Amino acid sequence: MQAPEFKVQGWCPGALRPMESGDGLVVRIRPRRASFSADQLRAIAEAARTHGNGVIELTARANLQLRGVTASSHGPLLQVLERLGLLDQDPAVEGRRNVVLSPWRSTADADLAEELYRAIAEGPDLPGKFGFALDMGERRVLADTPADIRLERGAKGLILRADGVSGGMDVTRETAVTEAMRLARWFVETGGVTEGRGRMAAHVKRLALPFDTGAIPAPKAADPLPGQREDGALIAFEFGILRAEALVALAQAAPEIRMTPWRMVFLPGAKMPDIAEAIIGPDPRLKVYACTGAPGCPQALQETRNLARRLAPLTPGVLHVSGCGKGCAHPGAADFVLSATRQGFVLARGARAGAEGLHLKPAEITEETFSKAM
Ligand code: SF4
Repeated sequence: MQAPEFKVQGWCPGALRPMESGDGLVVRIRPRRASFSADQLRAIAEAARTHGNGVIELTARANLQLRGVTASSHGPLLQVLERLGLLDQDPAVEGRRNVVLSPWRSTADADLAEELYRAIAEGPDLPGKFGFALDMGERRVLADTPADIRLERGAKGLILRADGVSGGMDVTRETAVTEAMRLARWFVETGGVTEGRGRMAAHVKRLALPFDTGAIPAPKAADPLPGQREDGALIAFEFGILRAEALVALAQAAPEIRMTPWRMVFLPGAKMPDIAEAIIGPDPRLKVYACTGAPGCPQALQETRNLARRLAPLTPGVLHVSGCGKGCAHPGAADFVLSATRQGFVLARGARAGAEGLHLKPAEITEETFSKAM
């Protein structure tokens, strides 16, 4: 087997610890309670223009990231984020505070997230990609969002569930965080970081959990679609990318802007704003994922987003176009994945980036190509 032509970082960028990319530093901002105030968002838009290249991305962990930050603009940007109350106490705590919260969470759910942040800050040293999901509504909306420890709704109240196991244990609002951290410590102490490759689902395949897992979680919700809802506006952006001007428009439309892991933002109680690049209904681009690709990412072997845009109306399922075998834009399997090589792309079906398949040049990829691959 050929060695992969990309570097696995094993950690996600933060604000205090940005990641180098082809267009400069990537600075990730992790909002508390999964939400920004309108004032915070306006200030971030201004900072994206002044200290970055004005491009903002919505991430798969419901965070915002600014691109094109330089070594000299990083310090001033941190000062802005500090003033907005968006910085953690140190890079280690920031790296561990991977908590995704349903955008339809109650205030009590968000309070539980705050309790979890405090416990994580004082808890064990967890791997960079290890995360928590708080998905406590009548239907689970974060079932497809990567997370290792999940708090969900069960028949009797809340349940704690380890990723990779179908059932969980009953907990209450009072015990939920304590039990979640007990599970995190068990993961570390039983070798999850090394033998479990840093992820819970891999670890529980080789070791039984130390508690009963008989509690069944609530059913999964249908995939969210952008549009006007009774409780607010759900807005998607192509590939999760928006310009600073769109952030300002969001801030004008609502006092609170909630992040989601679906390349969408939710404006509770708001009417749909008029934003040119917003996707506000069914659209073929919603099922297409593409990473930065060339020339923005130094590891990219091909351009990705123009190709993904061209192929969006042609694909019969979810398509992932990846600039190398690493698969940043869609870590799980997609119906079709095109992984870049030095010569073109490899098309595989029901696979993750980097899978073996049909070798093609970009111009050879047409609607028929997908029919042949099915
Ligand atoms: S998947 Fe895309 S963004 Fe990630 S390292 Fe490869 S080329 Fe870069």
